[in-house]
Amino acid sequence: MEIKLYDTMTRKVKRIAPTDEKRFRFYCCGLTVYGPAHIGNFRTFTLQDVLRRILKISGLNPYHIRNITDVDDKTIRQSESKGKSLKKITEKWTDIFHADCQELNMLPPHKEPKASEHIPQQIKLISTLLNKGCAYQAKDGSIYFKISTFPDYGKLTQLDRVELKTQTDANDNHQNLADEYEKETVADFSLWKARKANDGNNYWVSPWGEGRPGWHLECSAMSMEYLGESFDLHGGGIDLCFPHHENEIAQSEMATGIKPFSKHWFHSAHLIVDGKKMSKSLGNMYTLEEIKLKGYTAMALRYLLISGHYRQPLNFTFNGIDAAQSAINKLETFIYEMLSNIKMIKEDFISLQLETSTDDWGYLDKAWEALINDLNTPACLGNIFSALNKISSANLTTNEITSNLKALAHITYALGLDPFSKEQKTVLVPNEIRKLAEERWLAKNSKDFIKADKFRDEIQAEGWQVHDGKDTYKLVPL
Ligand SMILES: [Zn+2]
Repeated sequence: MEIKLYDTMTRKVKRIAPTDEKRFRFYCCGLTVYGPAHIGNFRTFTLQDVLRRILKISGLNPYHIRNITDVDDKTIRQSESKGKSLKKITEKWTDIFHADCQELNMLPPHKEPKASEHIPQQIKLISTLLNKGCAYQAKDGSIYFKISTFPDYGKLTQLDRVELKTQTDANDNHQNLADEYEKETVADFSLWKARKANDGNNYWVSPWGEGRPGWHLECSAMSMEYLGESFDLHGGGIDLCFPHHENEIAQSEMATGIKPFSKHWFHSAHLIVDGKKMSKSLGNMYTLEEIKLKGYTAMALRYLLISGHYRQPLNFTFNGIDAAQSAINKLETFIYEMLSNIKMIKEDFISLQLETSTDDWGYLDKAWEALINDLNTPACLGNIFSALNKISSANLTTNEITSNLKALAHITYALGLDPFSKEQKTVLVPNEIRKLAEERWLAKNSKDFIKADKFRDEIQAEGWQVHDGKDTYKLVPL
């Protein structure tokens, strides 16, 4: 089974497959935890989740890493202005993010490293770059990457070389400490930021004095820590191409001498709201909480987020989410009818969803083909509804209904659509239960079954049941 996906670097749709023939190693830039994630963030994370599910169904054994940025200008600014520790602030937003992800039915990454817990790895990477002569220390003690030492700089976004030439004259007087900047200001970027008064207590000790790593560095250090120096795919929103991903490529490939840092680059296009760019001033950076307050389910939002092709901007509107909600409802009604025809119940469908391999797609074959051909989620959704019409109008035997239902379970698993969304609407899993469930899952995966059972009992005592799948688990109220 071949999965094809557009690669930003080569500008081509390419086959993706694990290069070590064991697992498909991929890294996605995660959330900066200084506030709730908005629907634009969730578009990217949901599409990455769909990709992971397709890889899983195809037997390509995905290994998914997504970081948490818990040290940067924004998180530190918030910690200082609220007078709370950076850890306290970032943990609060991380918990909210996790709860949102669970409601949106996203599989948790296999590892979710935090920048603040990988400072030694980042310091080591800076030392390597200094030793290779592609980084230097400025007068204030900060360390910069010298982009003129990396001839391929700009290859991902195909930056104009002339544009670069005039901008790389950074010297000791040049103080570009911003983590984010525009193409017009291409310049040496900071790997290490020397401690400043407004950093408060948020600093670490390095061979170059007190300070903290620059934002771009963490993704190189953590992806290489967990996936090796060259891996299969790197994902993120299109806005991360420049400068973030260019900088990741430059520092990683210079440090290791291995090319490429990532073999495939997967970017999703912007989300716009009512035809306008999302912005704080327009008040249209909606969160999941705000969408739910307007009466929609998390599943309707998920449906909407995958209803456009990932390479095209998606226009979020409330008419669109109304349509998504009714499509989900239609899917749910259809599944209930099919189940009752063959005397099966909802739980049977859920267990079919968790069996994630198949070679019989029945009437859903075109829906699956759309997914593996450049992740064409809108075509997949269209094909699902055509298949439902065919199934309804054909005179099928019980066996044929069962096999089509199984294919439908797989395709809804691939899209991460939980058709029983109305029931899910009222189920909010408390944080303490989620934490216990996470502990149990970790214990189970490390084969400590006694510990896992202990957690299961604790979870049950609190009124919740854990249902295990191959790749994840579900929490259901008793
Ligand atoms: Zn990143």
